[in-house]
This record gives sequence, C-alpha cells and structure tokens, in this order.
Amino acid sequence: MKIKSFKAKNFRNIEECNIEFSEGVNLLYGNNAEGKTNILEGIYVFSRGRSFRAREDSEMVKFSEDGFNINIKYETLLGEESLEYSLFGKERLRKKNGYRINKITDFVGNLKAVLFYPDNMNLVKGSPEERRSFLNIAISQYDPLYLKYYQGYKKTLENRNCTLKFLQKGFPVDREELFAWSRTLSEYASLIFLLREEYVEKLKYYSKIFSLDISGGREKITLSYECDIENGLRDKDLIKEKYEKVFSENIEREILAGTTLFGPHRDDLKIDINGKDSRLFASQGQQRSIVLSMKLGEGDIIHSRFGEYPVYLFDDVLSELDDERRAYLAGKTDNLQTVITSCEGAERHLKNINVIIAEGGTYVPSHR
Ligand code: ATP
Ligand code: MG
Repeated sequence: MKIKSFKAKNFRNIEECNIEFSEGVNLLYGNNAEGKTNILEGIYVFSRGRSFRAREDSEMVKFSEDGFNINIKYETLLGEESLEYSLFGKERLRKKNGYRINKITDFVGNLKAVLFYPDNMNLVKGSPEERRSFLNIAISQYDPLYLKYYQGYKKTLENRNCTLKFLQKGFPVDREELFAWSRTLSEYASLIFLLREEYVEKLKYYSKIFSLDISGGREKITLSYECDIENGLRDKDLIKEKYEKVFSENIEREILAGTTLFGPHRDDLKIDINGKDSRLFASQGQQRSIVLSMKLGEGDIIHSRFGEYPVYLFDDVLSELDDERRAYLAGKTDNLQTVITSCEGAERHLKNINVIIAEGGTYVPSHR
C-alpha cells in the first residue's frame, strides 16, 4: 500500500497543504511544534477512523476556524483509492472514492498503516488497557468484522452493567433480564475471543522472530493471550458456553460489585522477555525492542493476510533507538513506504529519501 498524497484544510496548525509522498522513505523534518506529527495524525485518522491523540475531533480543527477537511490518495493492489474525512460544526463526513460512508466500521481498514510513536512505550509497562487498545486497533485492520463485534460487545456490556447496578441497589429487576444480557454478551465475547486468539498466535510468531533478529539472538519475546477462559479453543459455541458459565458462576459477585468483572474488556496480553515478565523486568532498551518487534509484526501480519505491506508511520522514534536498532529498522523497511518525523539532522543526509521540510504548518519538498 502506498500513499500518494495528503491534503488538509484548517487541520491543526495547517491552513492548507498538499503533500506528495514518494514510494520509499519520506522524512518530515523540522523544529519542534512546526506540524510534523500533525501530518501523521491526519494520515492515521484514515487508518484508525479517529485521531491517535485527540479525545475529540474538534481538537483537530485549526484554532478560530469552524471545521477541517483532510483527504488522502493511496494505491493498493486493486488500484488507486481516495478517502476523505471532515468535520464542520458537529457534522462529521467520511467518504471513500467520493461516496459517503456512514458507518465507521466501513471506513476503518481501508488504508492500512502501522503507527509507531513515543507513547507506544507504555505498551510494555502500562496498564492492560494499553495492550487491549493495541490489540483492538491492530485487529480492526486485520478483520473488518472485529470492530462490529467490539461495538456490539461494548453496547451490551453497558446494558448489562446498568442491570447489575439496579440489582446492586435492590431495585426490582427481573433476573431473567440479566441472564439475557449475559447470553448476548457471551455471544460477542466468543467472536472477539476467536479473533484475538488468532491474532495473538500470529503476532507471537512474528514478534519472536523480530525480537531475536533485532538483538542478535539475545532477546526472545513470547506473547500470550490472557483471558477468562482457556486458550486454544476454536469452537465458537463452546467458547460462548464457557463465557456463559463464567458469568453464571460469578453472578452474586457481579451484583455485589454492580459491574461486569469478566469478559474481553478485562483481557490482557502477556509479554515475556527471555522467559521473564516484561512488565516487571524489561529494561528501557528491551521495552523499545519489544514495541518495535510488535509493530513490525503488525505489518507482517497485514502483509500475510492482504498480500501487501501497510504504510509505516514513525513519529520521532528514531531518536529513541540506538544505532543498532535504527539500522535494523532501516533495513527492514528498506523497500516499504515509510513516513518518518524527526527534528534531528542525521537522517537528512541519507540518500534516496524524500525530505519534506515542515515549518509552521507548511510543507516544502527539499530538493537536494
Ligand atoms: P515536535 O517535534 O515537538 O513533536 P511537531 O512538529 O511534531 O513537534 P505537531 O505536534 O505536529 O508538532 O504540531 C504542533 C503545533 O500545532 C503546535 O504549534 C500546536 O500549537 C499546533 N496546534 C495543535 N493543534 C492545533 C489546532 N487545533 N489549531 C492550531 N494549531 C494547533
Ligand atoms: Mg511531533
């Protein structure tokens, strides 16, 4: 997959821009606060369906304007496509090839991109929420149905929690209502479990290889999917039954808590490095290798499924990596399209890269 161009109007600090990207390495170079990450953020909106750093779309509207529009042209094995995303007042508009897309689930997964940015380091030592979020975003690109299942799960979870809260407070609620929510929740949980299991199995394979490769054989990471039922199950009905059993066995505990204590919203991804829990024992450098291995794994999984690599977006991460890991990354993404941001001068002098100078929300190709 290759991005050809990115256009923006009144987006963050950009009044108007039209950036053309080349097939290989594109370096967005400039001082702090010039608008480098803003471009990666804009591109990634097309992949994830929303910003990776704004809580609200309105944060992306240029100060004192009333809306923004971003537009991307990219090439897939099937030909050239375009996506558009805009916000005016409260009205959000998404389009693919000029046609309106109403559901976010039909928008996500068109442009496939892997983003690696400094906050990703929380993946290792941060809360389980960080790792679940990583899985949710990655699997949404891997299987378009995942986001639908996840939305269904979240909605059902809200309803079930509401019923639990009523029961906790002693309101007269028929317990059958709770059982009905448990059955629907188990249905969605089984669908999510199946895809998470499948994905983690693949990621386990790739990230192990990458971690060994990056470290010259010194570091091996091993992933495992932590959830409320045993790993390795493949039969959807059986998985659903298992979740129903977990819910029915813990019903009194859940009523007492007034919330759902089990299910995929409590899952985690365990990351071991050389057989030890990385949450407790990974050094800074090892955390970087873990994240890098997982991000590269994410890319290879997309390649193995769709026959083409995603676009790699690296925000300021080169400065976080030592020379050895930097060289590894450069070698690994040699023939792939990458958009890298940096305020260091080092990469600027490399050959065969498309350097774009960012300055106050303007982007000018540097003809060297
Ligand atoms: P760094 O090297 O520090 O990471 P950067 O070039 O990546 O910097 P960006 O995060 O892309 O910087 O852009 C930050 C700039 O955009 C800041 O000057 C910020 O004030 C500005 N900015 C952010 N949101 C808006 C907005 N909604 N409207 C106008 N300007 C904005
Ligand atoms: Mg930045």
